[in-house]
Amino acid sequence: MTQPEESTPTHFRNVAAFVDEYLRYIYQRQVTDTTDAVWCPEWWKHTEAVVRLDSLWRAWEHYRLRETTGLSIWFTDHADPHMTKLLDPSGPFKYCNARHGHRQLLAPLPLTSPPREVFDWMAPLTPPLPESSKEKEPVDRVYASVVEFVENYLSVTYQRQVTDTTETVWCPEWWRHPEAIIRLDSLWRAWEFFRQKAPVGLSEWFLTLADPQMKQLLDPRGPFRYCSARHGHKELLTPLPSAVSPGMFTDPDDARDYRV
Ligand SMILES: [Zn+2]
Ligand SMILES: [Zn+2]
Repeated sequence: MTQPEESTPTHFRNVAAFVDEYLRYIYQRQVTDTTDAVWCPEWWKHTEAVVRLDSLWRAWEHYRLRETTGLSIWFTDHADPHMTKLLDPSGPFKYCNARHGHRQLLAPLPLTSPPREVFDWMAPLTPPLPESSKEKEPVDRVYASVVEFVENYLSVTYQRQVTDTTETVWCPEWWRHPEAIIRLDSLWRAWEFFRQKAPVGLSEWFLTLADPQMKQLLDPRGPFRYCSARHGHKELLTPLPSAVSPGMFTDPDDARDYRV
């Protein structure tokens, strides 16, 4: 983990010190012998927890120096929503327990790799990410495409129980769903931008973009309704029916064809 890019030295030397010496004293909750809230003493074994808590620590280092609103904003806009996600019994600590410790039962979301041409139809709809520009520095991008982003980051970060449950669904062939492609592509593009918006960028990306979008995708009534991690993709959903007759709308731009 790199240190926050600020001239002021950070109060805590890293996320582990922040959790150990600060956060766990603030958020004292009943996490033993209850099903309301869960916590894993080995939180650092969970990618999602590390990423969320690291972004939370960076945001704290930023907000603690603000004289007026300061930590109140940190609490309401960052800490509370992240801690709600982490303490949620169906969240990343689902199988862990304050009394019995960590259990390695969740795994990255299952994936199969798409053929390249799957994304061809999307190219004209999305702006190209600039490789570099004359005036600015070359764009510092971590992942070359949405596929790399999903395979190396998102599927590892959002580890959820998606097998033998009706609460959450995931399709290993997510790229067969136009909605998933567009949502995940937009998440990747935003991530590449927000991660460089230190020090609160990544926390904002998680809470305002990734969490709401992943909620839609993982919803059993969402785009993956008939698919499953165990049995794979099922081509059962079809586009919403639309009975527009030719000439119903006249517009100079009618020649444009948005069908995919
Ligand atoms: Zn654990
Ligand atoms: Zn599917």
